[in-house]
Amino acid sequence: MALPKQRHTRHRRDRARRELEMTTTKTGICPKCEAAVLPHRACPKCGEYRGREVVKKALPKLKKD
Ligand SMILES: [Zn+2]
Repeated sequence: MALPKQRHTRHRRDRARRELEMTTTKTGICPKCEAAVLPHRACPKCGEYRGREVVKKALPKLKKD
């Protein structure tokens, strides 16, 4: 593994961190429920990934009548 030869200055380190903070997170849209989803992740709302349900989502509780 490559090792850094010299330590960067505080300015360079902090500038790099600022740059990371400013980048926006790329999101896609779930084709099923149209919620914002991170790339290569199952949908947090419906649990679908590439057209099939990979995470079981709990069903809403039914009211007792
Ligand atoms: Zn979804």
